[in-house]
Amino acid sequence: MIGESTTSEHAAAALQFATNHGLVFTTLTAPDAATGFERFQSMVGETIETPVLVINQVLLKRLCEVCREQIAQQAAGTDRPRGFRAVGCPECDDRYKGRCGVFEAYLYEGDALRRMGRSLADNAARKVAAGITDYEELKRLAP
Ligand SMILES: [Zn+2]
Repeated sequence: MIGESTTSEHAAAALQFATNHGLVFTTLTAPDAATGFERFQSMVGETIETPVLVINQVLLKRLCEVCREQIAQQAAGTDRPRGFRAVGCPECDDRYKGRCGVFEAYLYEGDALRRMGRSLADNAARKVAAGITDYEELKRLAP
């Protein structure tokens, strides 16, 4: 783990170490995985010939487990999924307590970046269905 790649020197060092020694973890702030990888590649300034796994992480607000309740029916006339909501209680701050991560992974190999597994929105929708977060957080992620 070398920390965040904030400069071309950091990114180049991460790539060089990965190429010569193996597994390297670095972070990069970007709006999505594809943009993050493009930024990393641009910072490196050369063609990347080693496989790169890009994991996109977004933090969503976690519903309060004390006051959350399952929504009985889907809202009429909407595509809003059933799920859970919280009403607020002394244990939480405005219906939420803490954060939960949602992820998606991409593999860069052979000159292409391919998503592996479910998308970020699909993973967030699963957390809505499980009552970990709510529909408002899903909409914030994928409006
Ligand atoms: Zn609560």
